Amino acid sequence: MLMPPFELHHPTSTEEAVEIAASLMENGEAFDWVAGGTDVLPNYKWRINPKPHVISLAKIQEAHVLNANEIGCMVPLADLTSENNVHPLLVEAAAKVASSLIRMSATVGGNLCLDTRCFWYNQSEDWRRSIDWCHKADCGTGADCRVIPNQNTLCVATYQGDLAPNFMVLNASILLIGPEGERTLPIADFYELDGMKKNVLLPGEFLLKVFLPEDAAMRRGCYQKLRVRDSWDFPEAGIAASWLPGNPASLMVASTALESIPRLHTKEVEDHLEAGEFDPIALAKKVQKSVKPVNNTALPPRYRRSMVKTLTKRALLGILE
Ligand SMILES: Cc1cc2nc3c(=O)[nH]c(=O)nc-3n(C[C@H](O)[C@H](O)[C@H](O)COP(=O)(O)OP(=O)(O)OC[C@H]3O[C@@H](n4cnc5c(N)ncnc54)[C@H](O)[C@@H]3O)c2cc1C
Ligand code: SF4
Repeated sequence: MLMPPFELHHPTSTEEAVEIAASLMENGEAFDWVAGGTDVLPNYKWRINPKPHVISLAKIQEAHVLNANEIGCMVPLADLTSENNVHPLLVEAAAKVASSLIRMSATVGGNLCLDTRCFWYNQSEDWRRSIDWCHKADCGTGADCRVIPNQNTLCVATYQGDLAPNFMVLNASILLIGPEGERTLPIADFYELDGMKKNVLLPGEFLLKVFLPEDAAMRRGCYQKLRVRDSWDFPEAGIAASWLPGNPASLMVASTALESIPRLHTKEVEDHLEAGEFDPIALAKKVQKSVKPVNNTALPPRYRRSMVKTLTKRALLGILE
């Protein structure tokens, strides 16, 4: 499949990147950020919302920082798995993303900002035309959502990134930068429950870095992933858990690939701990009850939901070991 034409911009600093974005927006020109390109460029080849301009973050030095408390958006996932000072939970999660070849190009920022996925959407242009399109890429036809129709503008495409729930259970925060300036927020507040909007990035804004708090290093974590082929598939369900060993009050559990957003299960954990002792099976049932996958990924939603209990139990037993 041929790549549609676009103009590639190569800023060498965050200021230049923001300036380019602001001037394209002023001229009414659409653009995408590109990092490793392992997701956005195959989408372009399938004519899934391609843009006339693409701004690469590759030459921004700050975006390549990697130490125990700071991870730049351009750090390749392969580096997360091979560098010494990376939290073991992030090593485990990154090693489960795609294949070793993809992990050499795929980046942390691209993974966290990954587009949501749906089997009505991640298809070639001819395939999508044959079913008269859908809401997320309607080509001006006003076509409805095929998974849950008649719901106005909402898209329920699934977020299938692996890193986000793991950063969530390490209490990470992120630095966003754009024409309106910089802001830092907890990663748990980054995602937005709409498969089209996906996250809280403002026009022209990008994710520059992820920060881990000092006590993240003391957390013991475990990530459990369900996928069709272990060699490279996206998660069909994923559960991350971590705690400061011996301290149930520090327990955190997060999920991915079950809804339009990855999310922390703070309420389920708090309700469980309030009710009595830390019991992995009882908590796993609570987390299972709280998720509602829809029918738009490879495996049926009932199966994915039933596996949430198993994955949560395994993740909790993993951190207790
Ligand atoms: C065969 C295959 C298997 C895969 N399996 C998995 C898997 O198992 N798990 C998984 O999590 N992913 C998987 N992926 C998806 C993808 O490869 C990874 O998520 C990867 O980490 C994306 O990073 P990237 O740098 O290539 O992103 P890109 O493709 O460059 O960008 C992805 C999206 O993020 C935006 N973006 C990128 N960087 C930033 C930034 N810093 N700020 C704001 N927006 C940004 C882009 O505009 C684009 O919308 C798979 C992909 C393929 C092709
Ligand atoms: S969830 Fe609906 S609107 Fe979103 S990509 Fe799938 S079919 Fe399209």
